[in-house]
Amino acid sequence: MSSSSAVSQTHFDAIVVGAGFAGMYMLHKLRGMGLSVRVYERGDGVGGTWYWNRYPGARCDLESMEYSYSFDKDLQQEWDWQEKYGTQPELLKYANHVADRFDLRRDIVFETRVTHAHYDARAVRWAVTTDGGDQVTATHLVMATGNLSTPQLPKIDGVADFAGRRFHTGDWPHGGVDFPGRRVGIIGTGSSAVQAIPKIAEQADQLTVFQRTANFSIPARHGPLDPSQREAHKARYDEIRSAAYETPFGIAKYGSPTQSAFDVSDAERQKIYEDAWALGGQALLFTFTDLLTDGAANETAAEFVRERIRETVKNPAVAELLCPKDHPIGTKRLCLDSFYYETYNRNNVNLVDVKTTAISRIEPHAVVVGDNVYEIDDLVLATGFDAMTGAARDIDIIGADGARLAERWAAGPQTYLGLMVADFPNMYLITGPQSPGVKSQMILSIEHHVDMIAAMIEKLRAEGLTTVAPEAQAQDAWVSENNTVAHMTLYPEAASWYMGANIPGKPRVFMPYVGGVKQYRATCQEVIDDNWRGFAFSDAG
Ligand code: NAP
Repeated sequence: MSSSSAVSQTHFDAIVVGAGFAGMYMLHKLRGMGLSVRVYERGDGVGGTWYWNRYPGARCDLESMEYSYSFDKDLQQEWDWQEKYGTQPELLKYANHVADRFDLRRDIVFETRVTHAHYDARAVRWAVTTDGGDQVTATHLVMATGNLSTPQLPKIDGVADFAGRRFHTGDWPHGGVDFPGRRVGIIGTGSSAVQAIPKIAEQADQLTVFQRTANFSIPARHGPLDPSQREAHKARYDEIRSAAYETPFGIAKYGSPTQSAFDVSDAERQKIYEDAWALGGQALLFTFTDLLTDGAANETAAEFVRERIRETVKNPAVAELLCPKDHPIGTKRLCLDSFYYETYNRNNVNLVDVKTTAISRIEPHAVVVGDNVYEIDDLVLATGFDAMTGAARDIDIIGADGARLAERWAAGPQTYLGLMVADFPNMYLITGPQSPGVKSQMILSIEHHVDMIAAMIEKLRAEGLTTVAPEAQAQDAWVSENNTVAHMTLYPEAASWYMGANIPGKPRVFMPYVGGVKQYRATCQEVIDDNWRGFAFSDAG
């Protein structure tokens, strides 16, 4: 296998699509194995999610000391996170630091989108075409395309004709946006909006929030990271990283709860919730074993949060509108905020219910809801993404025997372990559907998958074989296992992006694996120990 990657080169051992945290580590890993690698990235820089999502208030909802790479001990020790939860600028700076430190940019082609990837069984190669006119081939194709990377415009009449400034949170202008003196409308109240709303409200003359579904949000209790805490964490980094793998969500800070919400008295439960609320972050969801499996247990936590909303928001009608009542808490991604509910006490903020009456249309200078016309200068779309499958479906991917990925996934994604797809030899997904990715500390799951992909490629090399692909039966069994596990929980009760419910016409299938990181990792290890059970390694050449 070659190790150089001159610009004129047209065949590579591996092509990686995307230079976010997944693509960057994949590149580093494969290069370390002596493979020639080219990465294509549609942005003009690295960082993926943290490159695109530059809206005001954007920050990670997992603490930086955990939400970071563990693959290089020196990197881990030398980088000093400044804040408890990484801000978008800090995370992007970290991504750039990693790119510099490991000299990654020389193998990344920026501002280039992969448009086609066709498998040639005779040549045992993927032929890849880009919008920049590149036509290259590779033995391995790695989709490091992210789970939340295809921003969605809402299907509302007139949205394309809005004449003022229009922004999507997932594709925010790089120079930033100023809102003083502006009348701003924002559609959406998911995680992105919950972070952006307090910041925009501080600047804008007037902010109108169009809310379809009220979401549960918990105070992040964000703040600077105390250097002594940081150093104490670093001193135990290995131990903490290992502990994370033993937890349901891959987050060491939140271990497995041990008791049911009904094992304790009402007063004890209240105290446990109050302590979790005071701690902030996702802690509340980790208080009891049955919050995501038992409706009654879940309701105790949900009502606790509704009470906090009613306490915080002064106008009772607005408070009630902000209280989520149509899904169990945690079944849509729990939002983390800094002064979200408090923002509705400001005179310049107006909440409009667009569930009872949907947005009728968008006019060049207004959002129209029934008979009400809300005039605005700027429209912010915090309307989410075609999650988990959108990015892969945007590329015309054809595997063996003319199998089209878009068609294979027409009724919902089908993968083996979220890593590979039957009939798509040597094509790998990093944190694909039916893996814990989005239900875990993402970087930990990325590292796990990158290491597994590297191990598969190494096995091919060591045994003189050329292709690996999952067996159809193993894939069917995994899809079925994924569904069984999901339906043992409350998750499918919410119309969430986990279910594909945010995209009109998308099949309603629960996509992430929710059996937990610990269980998933154990399953993967069993598969590996059983000589990669369910994966067919062969010498197709
Ligand atoms: P989202 O959770 O999908 O929220 C989209 C919002 O837009 C929802 O409130 C949705 O309402 C609303 N919406 C969509 N179409 C609409 C329409 N036609 N009319 C009215 N409302 C409409 O998207 P997001 O907030 O960008 O977050 C996506 C995910 O990204 C999060 O769940 C999280 O995993 C990740 N994220 C993480 C962070 C963080 O780490 N702090 C920050 C931001 C995002 P419905 O709910 O009724 O569909």
